[in-house]
Amino acid sequence: MILPSVKGNQKAAVLLTNHTIPWLENVLAAAGFSAVIFGFFEPDFPKPQYTVVLTSFIILATLFEAIQILRGKHSEGLLETIPGLLLWTVSIWILYRLAFPSIPQILLLSAGYVAWLILSYPFKICIAPLVAILIMETGLTLNNHQPASFLFNNLILFGAATFSLQIFTSSKMYHRYIKKAKDKEDEETEEYVKDFDLFSLRTSVQETLPPKDNLEKPGGVGREIRKSLSSSFQVHLEILKNTLKLTTAALLWPDSQRSEFKLRSFASSRKDIFLGPYPMGSGIIGVIRRAENEIAIVPVKAGGAMIPYYHKQGKVGGLFALQIEKSANNNDQDEITAILCVDRLSDNEWTETEKAILRMTAKKITHDVMMGRRILSMDQDRNAFQKVCIGLRELNAVLGLETVFDTTIKVVKTLVPSDFIAISMLRDKSHFVVRADGKLAGKITGQEFPLHEGMVGQAIKYNRTLPMAIEYRGPAPIFTYTQRFSDFGSILVLPLRKEKGGLLGALTVAAKESGIFTTARREILELIAAQIAIKIDLGEAHEQINKLATTDGLTNLANHRTFQHGFEMMLHRARRQSTSVCLILCDLDHFKRINDTYGHPFGDDVLRAVANVLANAVRKVDLAARYGGEEFALVLEGSNESGGITMAERIRKEVHALSLQHEGEPVHLTMSLGLAVFPDNSDDKPTLINYADQALYKAKNSGRNQTTAWSTLDQ
Ligand code: GH3
Ligand code: MG
Ligand code: MG
Repeated sequence: MILPSVKGNQKAAVLLTNHTIPWLENVLAAAGFSAVIFGFFEPDFPKPQYTVVLTSFIILATLFEAIQILRGKHSEGLLETIPGLLLWTVSIWILYRLAFPSIPQILLLSAGYVAWLILSYPFKICIAPLVAILIMETGLTLNNHQPASFLFNNLILFGAATFSLQIFTSSKMYHRYIKKAKDKEDEETEEYVKDFDLFSLRTSVQETLPPKDNLEKPGGVGREIRKSLSSSFQVHLEILKNTLKLTTAALLWPDSQRSEFKLRSFASSRKDIFLGPYPMGSGIIGVIRRAENEIAIVPVKAGGAMIPYYHKQGKVGGLFALQIEKSANNNDQDEITAILCVDRLSDNEWTETEKAILRMTAKKITHDVMMGRRILSMDQDRNAFQKVCIGLRELNAVLGLETVFDTTIKVVKTLVPSDFIAISMLRDKSHFVVRADGKLAGKITGQEFPLHEGMVGQAIKYNRTLPMAIEYRGPAPIFTYTQRFSDFGSILVLPLRKEKGGLLGALTVAAKESGIFTTARREILELIAAQIAIKIDLGEAHEQINKLATTDGLTNLANHRTFQHGFEMMLHRARRQSTSVCLILCDLDHFKRINDTYGHPFGDDVLRAVANVLANAVRKVDLAARYGGEEFALVLEGSNESGGITMAERIRKEVHALSLQHEGEPVHLTMSLGLAVFPDNSDDKPTLINYADQALYKAKNSGRNQTTAWSTLDQ
């Protein structure tokens, strides 16, 4: 039974909070503001008794407001928030004016308050107290309670305080603090999610993805579910309490380790609630676990020792507790169920209707939790799909063969909990490991293995994903008979098939843990393998096209365009590193005659032979190109004139020494070379080409089969 007086009080409180309080607060605040302006709180005020009365009223009202906030009754909307804030403002100003003569530092309190106001509330709310502060400060000055300089200084101080607080809240320290608080909330949510088994619904997609811990993090959705479950429980318990005239309605839930019960939610008119946790066998918890699904005790003897959630024994008339199925289809007999426990002062028997209401509530709570599980599971599904999509998209975005390999390793790693990944490419009767990651990767990469050995060879040879059975019973020879990976519990080798038939190679994924490659995971990996194959195919085509576009088909040297681009790049680098670059232009002597005498096909052979000489003569960092026709260009990095001449002479002699034969008849060939040097002769590309050409022209005119440097020309 609830006492009538309590009821009356509640009614009064409701009436007060809803309508009257904001207006009362406004009136009090207005009185306070005027009193501040007219010097009620200054030391020389002639009637201190008014000061005492007004101060008491305002401080009491402010305390009342503070208690409301502490009780969690946050005011919502402008009309409820502003009067409370005005009251706070006037209280702080009264305190400041009273204390200022003896403790001037009190001004800092006002400054801090202004800063807090501005940074915590939106403009449309904080503008009202701010205007009030401005009016009070100006009024104090106009009424000669403070000099104008004080007004000015105060306003500057308030501005500075706001600015400092703003800087502090954007500081690293503050963010670290906020992050800690957020981490704590995440931890609590994680525990909540575990206690309510919200992760118990798992779909095949979720099983596919690797980092279990990643999936187990409830994240933002977990927080939302926690909030909505808590408020739903709260509503149910409040309804029960009010309709059944209960003292307390409590929801007790076992923790994830099933070692104790926690008080998850309660609605109570008693103040001495013990929040737990409660050991498994304590009071009603122990009794109901031994009894049937529910238990009713009326009248309760021993003053309610059965009830774990009261600090004091107190008076309890009737008690009813029932077990809540934690999931809708609970088949596990030994499972520890949750408990809905209610008590009241009345010692009347629980009626059938009351029991029915309690049972229905228990059912509703089960359904709420189930719904939470379903939502979390859907969210996890979404995450899983998103991961697969991101992986596929990443694979799609890359172009070159090398990047396809790198991305493949990365994507597979994020999708499957693997300890070893390798990509093998088919080469006639063998396969060749182009990339590997994980244990032994260094030993395997770059190695060639015969197709008839090992699982990878077999998978490629028979165009099958291996092992055929889901269970892998290792250790099996993966690449060769001799090298076994004994510490892998799961292995999967997927052939990489071209879209239009034919095989490219294989993808090998292995993990220490056994039973990793479930059907769902195999399906996802097949999907990824198909995508990888397409990308490798495209990557090879891309490289082919690239080669065609940059090299000369006849000689395999860089073509004219690549020469121009490469020369530009080398000059650019030389400018930055202050080194020199030597350009040599070469032209075969009387080549037309060779064509005319032995025919064009032989001429082509000669060009190939010369290109070979050039390609072998230069270092990797240099560039040998076919400039056009029977002209070639060499760009030597870091080479000055004398180095260039040495190289040119060597090449000239080698070309001269080529033993070319046409139908058994020896053919002699010579070449002229012209040379210009960056930065000694010029620092721009067209001029350097022009100079080298002039030097070459000179070499031709001086009898051919010689090298000329531009610097030796008469300029
Ligand atoms: P010079 O010593 O003055 O350089 O005499 P040259 O005969 O080499 O001079 P010219 O520039 O008149 O002749 C170049 C010849 O190179 C003309 C052309 O038939 C031949 N030529 C250009 N490109 C090719 C090619 O790809 N294959 C063959 N076989 N001949 C080519
Ligand atoms: Mg020529
Ligand atoms: Mg020529």
